[in-house]
Amino acid sequence: MVPPGSREALSKPPRTPSTGFGESTLGEVAQGDPVRLPDLATVFSKRAERLQALAEGHELEGFLRMIAALVAAQDAALRDLPPGSLPGAAEIAKGKLVGRAPLDPSAWRRDGSWRAALAHILAGIDRGKLPEAAETARAALERTGEADLEVLADRFLEGNVSPQEAAVAVFVAAALQVAWTRMAALLDLADLGVGPGKEVEADTGICPACGSPPVAGMIAPGGTKFGHRHLHCSLCATSWRYVRVRCVHCGSTDKISFRNLAGTSFLRAECCEACLGYSKVFYLESAKALEPLADDLGSLGLDLLVGEEGFARVPNPFVLGVMTTGEAESL
Ligand SMILES: [Zn+2]
Ligand SMILES: [Zn+2]
Repeated sequence: MVPPGSREALSKPPRTPSTGFGESTLGEVAQGDPVRLPDLATVFSKRAERLQALAEGHELEGFLRMIAALVAAQDAALRDLPPGSLPGAAEIAKGKLVGRAPLDPSAWRRDGSWRAALAHILAGIDRGKLPEAAETARAALERTGEADLEVLADRFLEGNVSPQEAAVAVFVAAALQVAWTRMAALLDLADLGVGPGKEVEADTGICPACGSPPVAGMIAPGGTKFGHRHLHCSLCATSWRYVRVRCVHCGSTDKISFRNLAGTSFLRAECCEACLGYSKVFYLESAKALEPLADDLGSLGLDLLVGEEGFARVPNPFVLGVMTTGEAESL
């Protein structure tokens, strides 16, 4: 249900952070919150910072700097977002009946917040960081009408982006992330069946807040024990606990094997022979500044390696353009 006061909250600047995803909260993550809703004050700014750090000397430096500029524009758009709406209690209850997450994009009609975010991103992004194809897509989107934008959003959310649309899809995805991240931050954990005192082990490979696939998993340092794994949502930035050594696509715990690139002990691909799916697992113990979406983009070489072996995943929303134009072959 919509948390009390959320109408006012939606019209106010982002709330002051109590925690952020970073070193200072690792202990808390290790304790294993079943679900962590995104922190609006830091989610995009930390991601942009991490992308800048990763870009330095990287083979895909130009691409990473472009995404850093995009994420910085997301941060600014979030701060200026007009009031929006969350699904009502009745809609959430209806979704639960058919097993849908409260913010599942297919469960109810989104409002126009995401288009406001898109306009802000298109106008505010540092155009000096955009390669020609991205600038062409940006300018085209500025001229696109409401109805066509809604069609593009539907296609992205349905995972139905054609290669010709990849460049515009990156901007559409960024705007939808802004709108969904704000909504997720305003959810009540009780809507997700978790809360203080409830020890629910999330057992789903899709986001409990919005039903989207994760970009990656993070394993917190666990002291004497093994740390928990949290998966991180590609759309709303919620993270949730998920059993280790278990396929995020089909749930199989059989025939799981790992691959990694030489020299990257902080990252492995967890590959499932049962469904030929894989997902990335980052180990915070050995590299503390990691940010799931940014580090996923910073390690596309691993995707190529396991892709060649026949394993597949849902791509990072910002990688559609890179992976479909053959640029990634230069990795
Ligand atoms: Zn989500
Ligand atoms: Zn599997």
